[in-house]
Amino acid sequence: MSDRIAVVGAGQMGNGIAHVFAQHGFAVTMIDVAEGALGRGRVTIEKNLDRQIAKGTVPAEERDAILGRVTTSTSLHAVRGAALVIEAATENRELKFQIFADLDRHTDAGAVVATNTSSISITEIASRTSRADHVIGMHFMNPVPLMQLVEVIRGLATSDATMRRVLEWCRAVGKTPVEVNDYPGFVANRILMPMINEAVYCVMEGVGTPEAVDTVMKLGMNHPMGPLALADFIGLDTCLAILEVLHHGLGDSKYRPAPLLRKYVAAGWLGKKSGRGFYEY
Ligand code: NAD
Repeated sequence: MSDRIAVVGAGQMGNGIAHVFAQHGFAVTMIDVAEGALGRGRVTIEKNLDRQIAKGTVPAEERDAILGRVTTSTSLHAVRGAALVIEAATENRELKFQIFADLDRHTDAGAVVATNTSSISITEIASRTSRADHVIGMHFMNPVPLMQLVEVIRGLATSDATMRRVLEWCRAVGKTPVEVNDYPGFVANRILMPMINEAVYCVMEGVGTPEAVDTVMKLGMNHPMGPLALADFIGLDTCLAILEVLHHGLGDSKYRPAPLLRKYVAAGWLGKKSGRGFYEY
């Protein structure tokens, strides 16, 4: 497959997605409103690629060709000519609705327009376009170059042809796609976030320290990382936002975010990215 693809948003997820597509031979245009984000995105791709070369998972002689396949732009017009557009901009409903309305105008007829959203309804995003049959969720996991899974989410109007093409693209970049339907949190976060939330309740109620809770889950359940360390890595603000989506979208009190999680977010303790969450960094 030698299609050209475009990625909208050059942050942690966007540059990771651009990286894996370029690594597998696709020409990639990485688009961001912030010039600085494009520069940082490119530096991150270089760093992660060098790490793969050092580990022997990517041949050193491919480095320049891979980087040469990634171009950048601050204009959404650069999606022209792309067979697949993957939106990985900030997790904000209104922002994504606007981006999809704009993409509908600029993207080639017949192109697939995917979103990497963690929690926003694919069906609702698709309704902002005139091509809901070509809109789909492609939920990559962080860090994208390392994680095997892509949760592929079928919106209410997503066509079988769009689903088939996306499954093929996922396999072409070495990922394993899993098809799911559009409900709040899809599968990954519907299961992960209540576990993280319960771990926060354990700390809040004094059942155990963060270290104790994480050690129980690592050594007792064979999880590679404890739920609180994972929450810090994802970002506590992101965890809270996803829990709110589950709580409102499914209407069940079992998804209510732990007050301690709200308190940490209110304090600006967002996890690894802010230097402090359940642990200090
Ligand atoms: P991030 O903050 O690292 O990057 C977001 C980027 O989007 C920024 O560079 C920002 O400048 C850019 N942006 C904002 N508005 C834009 C616009 N109108 N057009 C183009 N670019 C714009 O965020 P992230 O962690 O990479 O998350 C991106 C998406 O991926 C979100 O929807 C998030 O829910 C989802 N996601 C995140 C993770 C994770 O672990 N971080 C995992 C899976 C999915």
